[in-house]
Amino acid sequence: MVLVGGGHTHALVLRLLGERPQAWSGAEVVVVSDVLLAPYSGMLPGYVAGIYTHEAIHIDLENLCRFARARLICQAVVGIDVEANRVLLANGDVLSFDYASVNIGSSPMTDAVPGVDRWAVPVKPVAAFLRRWDALMAAVNSGAMPKDVVIVGGGAGGVEVALAMEKRLSGGCRVHLVHRDRQVLSGHPARAQRLARALLEKRGIVLHLGEDVVNVNEDSVVCASGKSVPSSTTFWVTQVAPAPWVRESGVATDESGFIRVDNRLCSVSHPLLFAAGDVATVEGHPRPKAGVFAVRQAKPLFANIGAALRGDALRSYRPQKAFLSLISTATGSALASRRWLAWKSPLMWRWKDWIDRRFMRQFACSGESQDVSDS
Ligand SMILES: Cc1cc2nc3c(=O)[nH]c(=O)nc-3n(C[C@H](O)[C@H](O)[C@H](O)COP(=O)(O)OP(=O)(O)OC[C@H]3O[C@@H](n4cnc5c(N)ncnc54)[C@H](O)[C@@H]3O)c2cc1C
Repeated sequence: MVLVGGGHTHALVLRLLGERPQAWSGAEVVVVSDVLLAPYSGMLPGYVAGIYTHEAIHIDLENLCRFARARLICQAVVGIDVEANRVLLANGDVLSFDYASVNIGSSPMTDAVPGVDRWAVPVKPVAAFLRRWDALMAAVNSGAMPKDVVIVGGGAGGVEVALAMEKRLSGGCRVHLVHRDRQVLSGHPARAQRLARALLEKRGIVLHLGEDVVNVNEDSVVCASGKSVPSSTTFWVTQVAPAPWVRESGVATDESGFIRVDNRLCSVSHPLLFAAGDVATVEGHPRPKAGVFAVRQAKPLFANIGAALRGDALRSYRPQKAFLSLISTATGSALASRRWLAWKSPLMWRWKDWIDRRFMRQFACSGESQDVSDS
């Protein structure tokens, strides 16, 4: 059984496996992850805001795999040969599988706009983003405050990152938020959009709404309207896409390249392949790409992999329709939004903080020895 990627779903699956090893009895479990410390993006803006430490927002995959008695290989997967049932690693190694599951998340699209690859800092992969953010903070701490920082993308992630950055960079740096739509938080209730906009404006964040970025330069972001926004560093928090190798592997994908799975989390084209989290699109249940769905898929994925390994029938899973979005203001409050409801309050922040810390506490487990290799 090969688990590709240590996303939220696989992390929870490993936790369950450690608790109930008999559920996958007899299976050799191999986890392939490009990082040993898997980031929890729900707490990422809190790290940017200086609320959480690096350790607090990462899941220790070595520890978790030890607990689950799984072998961990620290390598990027660069392809899956779905006809020969093989996972292809960046170092050239090949892993054969009876079953595999993909949970590698997604990243902001960077190839559609010239200059993004060269000059912008995408929020994912998180490790690369954190390196750039830590370097920026080191420069700030030694007195080199940037003049203008631009965040492109005004969805929940972009708004939260902008508020977090404003908190850390206040006093000399202008924080800009550029968003394609006329309102931030597209797809959220109108009240949430109004509350978020008022908050961003109150914090002095310069909003560029209804602006489509068409070019990113070293020192500016250029919009389709002709507007040029000065930028010392541009952060890219836009719509997400899966890794290109997913589509190239020949597995059935939707038009954006996400793996099409049925309601048992099996690929619709290759039933030995499971997929969960952002990288998967559940047929008949389109949902926004949010960690909450990745988390909820852990139990059905764990059960269905166990059933597949035993040769039993797989069970259907029905994703929830609505979910609560909690956006931290970075200053001790949070904006909650669900369906048509929206509410900003310090209570919401305390709730978000409690939910996130409780999520991470599940991985503070230890266990028996395990085989970790980097090849
Ligand atoms: C700033 C920000 C804040 C967010 N806040 C929230 C929130 O509060 N609530 C919410 O529901 N959603 C939130 N999201 C969305 C959330 O990040 C994603 O929906 C969620 O992370 C998806 O989880 P996942 O398990 O699919 O993958 P991920 O959590 O992205 O994990 C994928 C893992 O696979 C690894 N990996 C990637 N490629 C490879 C490869 N080729 N080979 C091996 N390993 C690989 C990665 O290193 C990573 O560890 C936020 C997003 C951002 C950007």
